[in-house]
Parts: sequence; structure tokens; C-alpha cells
Amino acid sequence: MRKALVAGNWKMNGSTQMCNELLAAMISGVAGLKSVEVLVCPPFTLIGQVASALSDSSITLGGQNVSAEERGAFTGEVSADMLLDVGCEYVIVGHSERRARYGDSDAWVAQKARVAASKGLTPIVCVGETLEQRAADETEQVVGRQLGTVLDELTAAGLDNFVVAYEPVWAIGTGKTASSEQAQAVHAAIRAQLASVSEALAIKTRVLYGGSVKADNAATLFKQTDIDGGLIGGASLHAKDFIAICAAAA
Ligand code: PEP
Repeated sequence: MRKALVAGNWKMNGSTQMCNELLAAMISGVAGLKSVEVLVCPPFTLIGQVASALSDSSITLGGQNVSAEERGAFTGEVSADMLLDVGCEYVIVGHSERRARYGDSDAWVAQKARVAASKGLTPIVCVGETLEQRAADETEQVVGRQLGTVLDELTAAGLDNFVVAYEPVWAIGTGKTASSEQAQAVHAAIRAQLASVSEALAIKTRVLYGGSVKADNAATLFKQTDIDGGLIGGASLHAKDFIAICAAAA
């Protein structure tokens, strides 16, 4: 049985001031939700503060990005070891904003996932099509290629511990959510691709949906057979909304 996971991606938001209040509300709001794992991914500058605020809570911590290099002279980069050092258990790789703006190619994303997994961090690998690709009926092909590159790169140990997040690019931060049928269809294709590696992989790997998930659409999405939780951007900055989304996944 896959445990539901709801991950909050704060993106380039947050301050030392807002952090503790937001987290205090979230910690008490999700404390009773035993069947869902809750994760927050703050920007790097706040990770230490968030780690302290979350100690003794049920909420886990993740990074929003990681270097594809293990160590070395890479100004501006943050390594998997550094994320582990401050208490991260997860890291998002291949978010569409990074693919579109910062040159994160399929191969680069796969390398990041491999390095993270080899260190014991769980990569959350984001995949998803643009509106043009969906209109051209290329969704499964694009998502299949993005995921396939990662599956080819991960070692057996890496495959043991990774998460997929299907995030249609046209639904991220736009207020346009994929319908539950659209999302389920892609999730089923992802599950089938995992099954082509092994049935066990398909059964154990959590596949999250992301893209304008809100308190009022979360339950319908999370009810779908192949949706195991969500990757939440905007709504993860509002305690009440985020708690409601977590409750919908429980
Ligand atoms: C995201 O940042 O991954 C995301 C899905 O954002 P939003 O929920 O705001 O669409």
C-alpha cells in the first residue's frame, strides 16, 4: 500500500518572519493525519530555520533543487550531501520552471536524480507536457521520454526510492487544473511505464499530481486510482489551504 504524500513547494517565496507562524499552523493542522506524509520544500535560505521549526513534528523537509555534481567548485550550487546535512529527506528535480528557464535537460535531471538517490535523498522527479504538446497529442510521448531517461539512469537502489510528480506545465500556477480524468489517464500511463521495468516498481512508486491543486479540487484528484498525493505550489503558502489539501489525501 502506497502512503499518500503531499509536498509543498514554496518556490522563491518565504521569509524568516513568515516561516515560524506558517509552520506552527501546519504542524498542528496535520498532526492527526497519520495516513499521509507531509513534506515542505522551502527555498535554500530558509532550510535551516524550517528544519528547526519542524524538529519533533511529523512534517518532513525537502529541497527544491540539487546539484548534479557530488562536490567541487560549482558556485551557486547546493549538493545532495548539503541537503542531507540540514535534515532534508527529499529533493524536487526537473521542475518545469527549471527545465524551461535554467537548462535542466532530461539527461541533467536524470543525473540529479541519480546523485540524490545514491546519497539517500529521495528525488521527486517532475514530468509534464506544455499546452502545445498536449494540443499536438504528444503528452504520453513527452512524459514517457522524461521519465524514461530517469529510469535508465537510476540504479536498482535508486529505483527503490523515488517519487514521480506529473505536473502539466499549463496547469502550474495558472489556476487551470487538469480534470481528474486527464490526470488519471497520464498517471495510468506512468504506472504502466513503471510496470514495464517491474511490477513491484509500479506497485510501490508514488506518483503525485501537481498543477493548481486547491482545497476544493484536491479530493476529486486524489480519489483517482493512480494519484498518490500532490505537489502543491501556491496553496502550500497558506496554512488553511495546505492543511485541507493534506486532509483530502488522508
Ligand atoms: C508547483 O510549483 O509545482 C505547482 C504545482 O504550483 P501550483 O500548485 O501553484 O500550480
